[in-house]
Amino acid sequence: MALMLCGASVWCPAASARQFTVVIDPGHGGRDTGAVGRNAKEKTVVLGVALELGRLINENHPEVKVLYTRSTDVFVTLDGRAEFANKNQADLFISIHANSVKRNQQSVQGAMVFTLGLHRTEDNLEQAMAENQVIELESDYSVTYSGFDPTSAESYIFFELAQNQNQQRSIEFAELAQRQLVTTAGRADRQVQQAGFLVLRNVTVCPSVLVELDFICNNRVAQFLGSDEGQKLCAKALSNAFTTYYSHHPVDGQSQSDAAQSAAVQTPQSYSQPAQSASAATVYTVQFLTSDTPLQPGDPRLKDIDDVSSYYHQNLYKYVSGQFTTLRQAKRHLAKIKKIYPEAFIIKMRNGVRVEQ
Ligand SMILES: [Zn+2]
Repeated sequence: MALMLCGASVWCPAASARQFTVVIDPGHGGRDTGAVGRNAKEKTVVLGVALELGRLINENHPEVKVLYTRSTDVFVTLDGRAEFANKNQADLFISIHANSVKRNQQSVQGAMVFTLGLHRTEDNLEQAMAENQVIELESDYSVTYSGFDPTSAESYIFFELAQNQNQQRSIEFAELAQRQLVTTAGRADRQVQQAGFLVLRNVTVCPSVLVELDFICNNRVAQFLGSDEGQKLCAKALSNAFTTYYSHHPVDGQSQSDAAQSAAVQTPQSYSQPAQSASAATVYTVQFLTSDTPLQPGDPRLKDIDDVSSYYHQNLYKYVSGQFTTLRQAKRHLAKIKKIYPEAFIIKMRNGVRVEQ
């Protein structure tokens, strides 16, 4: 049975089965050209890939509803894109871009699929920019960092908390898309990454990814991305990823793997409240686990824990359960968690950031 969010933090059965809705978001458009390579503009390449991706999804899964944030060469704001996904109760949001460092840089290449999250939490912006990966994002710099203080590590932590509900599935789709861009479209593998993309941050209803197909500043890549064949291969790759993801997470009737994960992923979430209200209060939560890499969907370590979220702190992903306004409620929850993780303890979060008690 499909689940829908009714009110702030109550899950209830959907009144009737509904279609899986995928929102495809070709980046840039109109006056916003995006990155420009030799004979290829980002806005044109990504529109071509997006339309072909939608066509393939329609062909393979006629029951899926495919929506585009733009299907012509028009400008759409970042907020408008995210809002469109939210308004349409999307089940998956795929933003498509092409990367660039600077014009005529020939050596750089490779696909990267991003999910919302932490790039380098503990680094401030200047330090982060000194690193290649961030400089490589330069063309999408305004896309990445507008709307919040990028020098504040707290901003990133807050994003991750607010978005955790969809994060595991975002990573799942990102991994599938990344693999397909390498195997089907022949792109070099720069792996799944995380960054604070504004367009992803504002998509609150569903898992979301931002695909950087490859580097358009590389002439050889620009030729590929500018060609019909190149765009078709990229679309085919994303379509294959979609097919696998959709088979795991259809909207009507959960698949088996879905049901197994539902305890960790779909339990009633106080984090599913609008970001503003989550940030406004001081809350208590129970920390039970840390890991130096993000845990994957269905990780057995999260199996019996309800209402899981995570934050990044001192180079570790820290996993917490529950969110309570009083210490007393948190203590009650702690007693339960301690049966599984005896070392668990309560932490206090304010504005989405851990504070010392
Ligand atoms: Zn872009």
